[in-house]
Amino acid sequence: MPFSPNTPSGPLSDKWTQYRSTMNLVAPNNKRRIDIIVVGTGLAGASAAATLGELGYNVKVFTFHDSPRRAHSIAAQGGINAAKNYQNDGDSVYRLFYDTIKGGDYRSRESNVHRLAEVSRNIIDQAVAQGVPFARDYGGLLANRSFGGVQVSRTFYARGQTGQQLLIGAYQALSRQVANGSVQLFNRHEMLDVVMVDGKARGIISRNLLNGKLERHAAH
Ligand SMILES: Cc1cc2nc3c(=O)[nH]c(=O)nc-3n(C[C@H](O)[C@H](O)[C@H](O)COP(=O)(O)OP(=O)(O)OC[C@H]3O[C@@H](n4cnc5c(N)ncnc54)[C@H](O)[C@@H]3O)c2cc1C
Repeated sequence: MPFSPNTPSGPLSDKWTQYRSTMNLVAPNNKRRIDIIVVGTGLAGASAAATLGELGYNVKVFTFHDSPRRAHSIAAQGGINAAKNYQNDGDSVYRLFYDTIKGGDYRSRESNVHRLAEVSRNIIDQAVAQGVPFARDYGGLLANRSFGGVQVSRTFYARGQTGQQLLIGAYQALSRQVANGSVQLFNRHEMLDVVMVDGKARGIISRNLLNGKLERHAAH
């Protein structure tokens, strides 16, 4: 079956902005009635689960590791790119978009990379608010370095442990929601299959790695 990218229609740089402005929203009092499954507790899964939990949804999050902090994200070192143009060296969302497409050997999905470049600026502020200790210059402002052969300095970093520090930040946000009861954490659980109903993912089959038992989990 050919893979369908499922990205919204419209001009490349507006696709996701337009989609977000017109998509259906969920009323606040209905959010707690909606169950969501997230598989993985690396930077992607942990932050998604924490954010959805904070919004009020019922979240179940799965990892085959013993702790979310074991995810491979811990290994990322160099830093995280954001088009904030703090150095006033001519950076922009378009330049970060273009450099990322080029760095990905022109194989990446363009509208999604554009979205990544757009939100890159807010991600840094979110991580700082979560307590991620990014490097700072002597005046106390966030420092940047040039990374990956680009012409501008847009990489925010925490020595050589950016992924580790970001993962601790995401893990803290996740743990807060677990303590609140909005997120249920299933560690040592491996997803084996996705349950599809009428073309939509409605649940997973997982194995409890401690006792070997198969489990099924349903969600909206
Ligand atoms: C050495 C190294 C250096 C890097 N340096 C940088 C850098 O400087 N800057 C940068 O931007 N990026 C860098 N990256 C890339 C970046 O780290 C990754 O792209 C990113 O961390 C991936 O995050 P993730 O949450 O998608 O995946 P991961 O962190 O790999 O998390 C995957 C999660 O899914 C879970 N999982 C997987 N399969 C199952 C299953 N079947 N059932 C249940 N759970 C499952 C795992 O337990 C884990 O929790 C680097 C990567 C490496 C390895």
